[in-house]
Amino acid sequence: MFGKEYMLAALETICRDIIEHEEELNRLDNAIGDGDHGTNMARFSRIVLQELPKLAADNEQLGEIFHQVGMRCINEIGGSAGPLFGTFFLRAGMASMGKTVLTPADWTMAFDAGTMGVSLLGKSSEGDKTMLDAMFPAGRAMQKAVGKGGSLPEVLAAGAEAAENGVLYTKTIQANKGRASYLGSRSIGHQDPGATTIMLLLQSMHKVAVKMEVD
Ligand code: ADP
Ligand code: MG
Repeated sequence: MFGKEYMLAALETICRDIIEHEEELNRLDNAIGDGDHGTNMARFSRIVLQELPKLAADNEQLGEIFHQVGMRCINEIGGSAGPLFGTFFLRAGMASMGKTVLTPADWTMAFDAGTMGVSLLGKSSEGDKTMLDAMFPAGRAMQKAVGKGGSLPEVLAAGAEAAENGVLYTKTIQANKGRASYLGSRSIGHQDPGATTIMLLLQSMHKVAVKMEVD
C-alpha cells in the first residue's frame, strides 16, 4: 500500500529518469516519427519537477495528484503524446479519486483505467506499435501478481518486465497508428518510443518502491 510520500518520490524519479533518457527517446522517435518524443516528455518532466513541492503542499488525495499531472501533460506536451499521456493520468486519477492510499490492486486498477483511456482516445489497441503494447501486457502482468497477493515491488516488477517484453515486441511489428504508421512496413525493426516511456515509468516506480520498502 502506498500514500502521498511514495507517489511524490515516484513522480520525481520518473521525471528524472525520463530527462536522463531524453536523447534516446528522441533517437527512437527520429527513426519512425519526427524525433521529438524525448523533448516532449523531458519538457513535461521538468515542469512537474518544478511544481512537485506545490503539488505536495496542495493535495492530499492521490487521485488529485494524478489529475494535476495529467493536466500538465495536456497543457505542456505537444503532439499526440500530450493528450494520450494526459488521458492516462486523468483516468488513473478518476479511478483513485478520494483515496489517500492505494493498495497494489488499487494501483493496478488505476493503471488499467488509464490504459483504456489511451486506447479509446487513440482509437488504438495492442499490436498497433504504440505505448499500448507496453501498457496492456503490463496491466495483465500486474493483475496476475496482485492475484497472487504480490507486494507493490513484486507487482511493479512484473509490470516492468512485461512492459520491457512489450517494447521488444514493438520492434517486430508494423505501426498502424501515429506518425510511424506513415512508414508502413518500413517501421518494422524499430522500437516504439512511447512504449519505451511506459517501460521507464514502471521501472522507476519499481525502483522507488524497493528503495522505500513500500509493500
Ligand atoms: P508525436 O507523434 O505527435 O510526435 P510523440 O513523438 O511525443 O508525439 O509520441 C509518439 C508516441 O505516441 C508513439 O511512440 C506512440 O507510442 C504514441 N502514439 C501515437 N499515436 C498513438 C495512438 N493512436 N494510440 C496510442 N499511442 C499512440
Ligand atoms: Mg514525435
